[in-house]
Amino acid sequence: MSVYDVAIVGAGPGGLHTAKWAAKKGLKVLIIEKRKDISKMTRYCSEHIILDENYNGDTIVVQTGEEIGPDGFIGPNSRNKIKSTKFGWEVDYKGPLCPVRDKFYYSADRAHHAHYAWPDKRPFAWKYDKAGLLKQILDEVLALGVEYLNETTCYQAIDTAQGVELKCVSKGKKFKIQAKKMIGADGATAQVAQSLGMNEGRVYFASALCLALYMSNVKDYNPAEWCGYWGLCYGSNFAPLLGTGPAGHFEWADVILIGHPKQMPWALYEFFTKKSPVAYMFENAKIEQSHCCTTKAYSPMKKPYKGNCLMVGDAAAFVETQAQGALNCGYWAADALVKELDGKPGFEEYTKTWLETFEFNDDGMMQVTSGYALIPYYTDEEVVYLFSLLDGVTMNGSWSQYDSPRMLWREIHKNDERIQNERPEIWEKITKQQSKTLSDSMS
Ligand SMILES: Cc1cc2nc3c(=O)[nH]c(=O)nc-3n(C[C@H](O)[C@H](O)[C@H](O)COP(=O)(O)OP(=O)(O)OC[C@H]3O[C@@H](n4cnc5c(N)ncnc54)[C@H](O)[C@@H]3O)c2cc1C
Repeated sequence: MSVYDVAIVGAGPGGLHTAKWAAKKGLKVLIIEKRKDISKMTRYCSEHIILDENYNGDTIVVQTGEEIGPDGFIGPNSRNKIKSTKFGWEVDYKGPLCPVRDKFYYSADRAHHAHYAWPDKRPFAWKYDKAGLLKQILDEVLALGVEYLNETTCYQAIDTAQGVELKCVSKGKKFKIQAKKMIGADGATAQVAQSLGMNEGRVYFASALCLALYMSNVKDYNPAEWCGYWGLCYGSNFAPLLGTGPAGHFEWADVILIGHPKQMPWALYEFFTKKSPVAYMFENAKIEQSHCCTTKAYSPMKKPYKGNCLMVGDAAAFVETQAQGALNCGYWAADALVKELDGKPGFEEYTKTWLETFEFNDDGMMQVTSGYALIPYYTDEEVVYLFSLLDGVTMNGSWSQYDSPRMLWREIHKNDERIQNERPEIWEKITKQQSKTLSDSMS
């Protein structure tokens, strides 16, 4: 039986990038992927490349192959490069791009909003074709001699002194694979880590049921905007979002609803599109595609390796690393593998970079973020008041789910004295909420 230097479970951005760089370094690599065709999206992702400076410890730049066309987009034949300015890798991406230039968080009356945009209107994110990108990396990886088993699920990994045994199943047939090292890149479900007992001790926070609908004919939709609607009048504790349509159909809107078992996403959709203050936008709209996924938030792994096995990307993360973060993990993992196979502590070094790079590994940051939640802690009228303090303010272009609330509250706090005088009851709520501990916020 062939023994691989490394078997990688999962052909997402984390697994594929590990494979690419491990093969370039001369390792014998196998990828195991449960899906038949990775060029088709199965798990929803809003598919943005995020350009925020130092986002998750890196600044990603996109060098476009073509100029933006008269339709406002970069065309499907454009040969673009996605680059990590901190870690030095670059990935070729041939495909379309839609710039995201403005982010609006609307309050209940929509007269007041938080606005994020760069003064020169440069994009802070690009919508792209993620499945297309993954297929392109897979083609590169195959050309480097990597072996690829699709339609194969790894359901258990067993770590031994000699290496790793992976139990797999493909089309009903069970078999085993031997490798010296294993990379778990199977995404947020972290099934392989589970089989190794590595999820024990991770704190479970919450699950989110996500429904995303690509819709045509949405009135006032602008593909270069990312909008959130904050208030119970929109029907949900999590702000419904309106983002850019998929590659090939940037003219469709992406309507994203996040629910939970007591607030099912389809009911949220019905409310948002038929009864909320923005129902008028959907009067003539049509659902073109629907996608859904579940995300479970676990505390991140502080030590993402055990014996010969290393977990990369979402498999070890709090919610998600984003595709660009998973690409980073893959890049570091290849380096770690070479060192481990040479008897050096590569996984330990990887862990240091993992802990330093991702903001979610900092407990203090998670506490601050959870203390910034708006709904349902503040009433709709209170959110209108708070957002009215942002009238005439444009904050810097930002995608980050960590930075955007920090920036918003920083602006609101410029009015502390005014809030204390005008709305002491809101001031009391603010001081209470922002001094909560992480476990208070999560309970
Ligand atoms: C609602 C939502 C919106 C998002 N929006 C964005 C965005 O705009 N931009 C962005 O960059 N990221 C976004 N993300 C996050 C992004 O999708 C992930 O962070 C990223 O894809 C993680 O990459 P990964 O390689 O770690 O895992 P994944 O991309 O999840 O890849 C895991 C792979 O492993 C395979 N697999 C799973 N289990 C097994 C098994 N047992 N055996 C074999 N194969 C297996 C899967 O089929 C999959 O191909 C979003 C996520 C969600 C949920």
